[in-house]
Amino acid sequence: MKVVLPDSSELELPEGASGLDAARAIGPKLAEQAVLVSVNGSTRDLRLPLADGESIRFLTTRDANDPDALSVLRHSTAHLLAEAVMRLHPGVKIAIGPPIADGFYYDFEFPQPISESDLEAIEEEIRREIAEGRVWTREEVERDEAIARFEAESQPYKVELARTAEGAITLYTQGDFTDLCRGPHLQNAEPIKAVKLTNLAGAYWRGDEHLTQLTRIYGTAFYSQADLDAHLERLEQARARDHRKLGRELDLFHLSDHSPGSPFWHPKGMVLWNGLEDLRRRENRRRGYQEVKTPLLYDIQTYITSGHYENYRENMFFVQPHEGEEPLALKPMNCPGHMLLFGSELRSYRDLPIRYAESSTLHRDERGGTLHGLLRVKHITQDDAHVFVTEEQIQDEIDGMIEFASYLYDRFGVTPHAELSTRPEKRLGTDEQWDRAEDALEAALKRHGLGYVISPGEGTFYGPKIDLHMTDVLGRSWQMGTIQLDYQMPVQFGLTYMGADNREHSPVVIHRALLGSLERFLGILIEHYGGAFPFWLAPVQARVIPVGEGHREAARTLRGRLADEGFRAEVDDRDDTLGKRIRDAELEKVPFVVVYGDRESDEALAVREHGGEQSTLSVGELLDRFRELADEADPR
Ligand SMILES: [Zn+2]
Ligand SMILES: [Zn+2]
Repeated sequence: MKVVLPDSSELELPEGASGLDAARAIGPKLAEQAVLVSVNGSTRDLRLPLADGESIRFLTTRDANDPDALSVLRHSTAHLLAEAVMRLHPGVKIAIGPPIADGFYYDFEFPQPISESDLEAIEEEIRREIAEGRVWTREEVERDEAIARFEAESQPYKVELARTAEGAITLYTQGDFTDLCRGPHLQNAEPIKAVKLTNLAGAYWRGDEHLTQLTRIYGTAFYSQADLDAHLERLEQARARDHRKLGRELDLFHLSDHSPGSPFWHPKGMVLWNGLEDLRRRENRRRGYQEVKTPLLYDIQTYITSGHYENYRENMFFVQPHEGEEPLALKPMNCPGHMLLFGSELRSYRDLPIRYAESSTLHRDERGGTLHGLLRVKHITQDDAHVFVTEEQIQDEIDGMIEFASYLYDRFGVTPHAELSTRPEKRLGTDEQWDRAEDALEAALKRHGLGYVISPGEGTFYGPKIDLHMTDVLGRSWQMGTIQLDYQMPVQFGLTYMGADNREHSPVVIHRALLGSLERFLGILIEHYGGAFPFWLAPVQARVIPVGEGHREAARTLRGRLADEGFRAEVDDRDDTLGKRIRDAELEKVPFVVVYGDRESDEALAVREHGGEQSTLSVGELLDRFRELADEADPR
């Protein structure tokens, strides 16, 4: 048989040859360094057979930053972790140990609870295993054999996994440790050059809170010590920028057990909030969106019609009715309200597109354990819109939305990248509809030069979607907005419009939120900027500091002039020393500090720009600088 190499040349191999055989046929160095083989674009364990005609490419230890190469390294390290834990803590039960975004974890049921201080000894044991050398072997076994094996080892979680596993049962062994695992794995432990166990957490078996609570050990691994060091440095920076910490320090918001998952926005945080709202509102208006306001509470029938009752009930809040009254539920999304609004009048094709925008409060009952500052809340506000279009209008509308998203993300100096999710196995609608819908989404992404990946089969059952992600200053990727085509909900609500042919047609609806949840977006922005917000968004744009008591009047007058021009300025005339007041302004990352003393006048102000130099400006020059910076909010 033949396989195709990246340079399009063909490699002749015996029937049934594995990826590793192919690497050996090319050269011993490659065979030694190979960690995975990519076959027709998806990665595969080196030990698995290749088939005639497949295009192959090898990932090696030199692909140290490739997500798949890191993933196989980390998954293999998770197995070393399990081996180490079993040796150090006899009687431990092992559950699962997958790779995750920045590392890996393994879940255990320990006979005696362990603490973070135990991690060092485990880490040491892993290093010993690596130094000693470990080679992974893979075998396919019968289900019964796997079950018997793990029963003999008193590993009930593995027994359960073996019972319910789909497809062939495979085992990977290194040293005297065997795990039930799909793979892929490294050939041996040689490439694992740096390991760090990071923390412990509780986790439920199968993620179900009714089942046993296990102990999860998190860790990470890299192809070099330098890469691990850089990673730990990034984590350190991320901790310093944690939005919950900055939220307190900068007096932006707080969270309280009196209303779990619902932020209390302080006056300064509210300036940020309104900054996003102003941006959303202004840009919606420019693009023909109409602002609406729909109720928070609906009867159950509405949610049955929209499908939320069937598919989303677990995450909804129901309102206890008074006797003899029907129960109501708080809306988790705006769609049902917008459907009812559209259906409240007779619509003609001339009315379309109709673009309803609303950023009202939504409630989603995220479970306690998953709440995380502003990033996961129960009280959620989206820059939401539902656009009702004819089939012919889809293309232009999606196009406009991608342009809109790019414009918004640009305001924060981040480049969005997209994920296009296509038709899933179970779906409604015809293949022609799906063809057109997917083509429309992809064409828009291409036209705007937006980077995107395709997630085959990941669309919703009612239509394909684009998810928008942003990468922050620390290189972390966040999912923000979404654009979803939906042929079904309008049908469910019996919505129609009168076509040019004088017949009734169903509109298509596009659900879209571009910033996504405002709470989450602000949480990420706080971390992205490390609290040093751009001038147009900063809660306090300028602080005037009078040197002595005799300068207070002049400082207040100056503040008044800045405020008159619409800028957010304040005076710090506390009794503290000048040095302390300047330092405080710096810690609070106020963009401009103006010190007013004997030597200053309206013609010559001492101005410090955050992170910049001190300069002498007149009031007029200062205002010009402010206007110039404020224009960054809207550079048209
Ligand atoms: Zn595994
Ligand atoms: Zn919606």
